[in-house]
Amino acid sequence: MNKQVANVRLMQKINRLKVLNSLIQNPSISKPAISEMTGLSKASVTNIISFLLEKGLVCEVGREVTDKIGRKAVMLKFCATNYNFVCVNITREGVGVYLTNLDGEVISSRIHNAPNLTSQKALSIVKEEIHSVISNSDSQKILAVGISVSALLMPDGTLAVSSKFRWDNVDFKGEIQKEINKPVFVMDTSSAKAYYCSLSDNEKINSMLFVDLKDGVGAVNFYKGHINKSIIGEIGHTTVEKDGDMCFCGNRGCLETMCSIERVCEQYQKSGKGNSLDDVINGFENGDKTATELLIKTGEYLGIGIANAINIINPDKVIINKGEWQKSRFVLETAVNEAKKRAFSAISGKISFETADIDDIMTVKGMSKSLCESVFDVDFHGDIFD
Ligand SMILES: [Zn+2]
Repeated sequence: MNKQVANVRLMQKINRLKVLNSLIQNPSISKPAISEMTGLSKASVTNIISFLLEKGLVCEVGREVTDKIGRKAVMLKFCATNYNFVCVNITREGVGVYLTNLDGEVISSRIHNAPNLTSQKALSIVKEEIHSVISNSDSQKILAVGISVSALLMPDGTLAVSSKFRWDNVDFKGEIQKEINKPVFVMDTSSAKAYYCSLSDNEKINSMLFVDLKDGVGAVNFYKGHINKSIIGEIGHTTVEKDGDMCFCGNRGCLETMCSIERVCEQYQKSGKGNSLDDVINGFENGDKTATELLIKTGEYLGIGIANAINIINPDKVIINKGEWQKSRFVLETAVNEAKKRAFSAISGKISFETADIDDIMTVKGMSKSLCESVFDVDFHGDIFD
């Protein structure tokens, strides 16, 4: 392709994406409003809308409601039901594979129960399940495959390390891309959950800190509606106790080790009063001193970690996904109080703190939202309109 043709194609792609994204961002919108929003001429918008209608990415939803005299404009909306994503969610229990529409609604799902997977076993299950979903559906309609895994990911999608699974150096993206002719995106599970929370953010806050307490401690910063990729979110491996317990990562006193349920249970066992989280919580509720001290200490460690993140990120809102700690409101409240106490008051005074309980279906919805953003982004190398 010569340079001139390439430039024309790129401009065409940019303009189509501008129109499509104005549709994605609005529940319904008219062509004149799109023209105003994108700066494109009305004739260009009309052309692009005809193309998108033909592709099944837009549909008409009646006429605008207005007091204006004259012909009312046709209202349009993004049509999420004609295409699909395959979303793979790797958890400690196994692999969940979901076929969704572009809005993240699950059309079908398969759960492959297989706890304590090695990375190679997980990779082979993921490959097998993706092949199975693609061969059982209309492959042409599948725009991309997303994989969420709790891990530190490199910009090229390689999994560098996962403390949750005890894996390192796994190239899910490269290995799967080799076998299927679809774009593959790998994302950290906490980011998918943060995306889900952003969907219900009607206040359109500037900066949100999402703290994930499910299987360790992760953090995600959502800034002006997008994941802030310069924050890698490994707050679980920041030090909260210099000579604390040994962590998987090789350091001592990491946040996720010091506030882990395993540690609380181990410490409680030494008192001879029980060895499960339920025992500790029962002890606390019955006024047991050891249990109370353990839960206070755990909440304080968590609060220190959150305060450190707050002082770096300066969020307007902090959402804590409760994970296993949903069993103890006391730990979460202690953590929030400690975080407020330790973070700069000028920052923490304006923060609203919320808790959430994000399940697998919500995670998949967040993943779909992220995939939608990725495939309809101008930086995406493939042309989704081909
Ligand atoms: Zn660590």
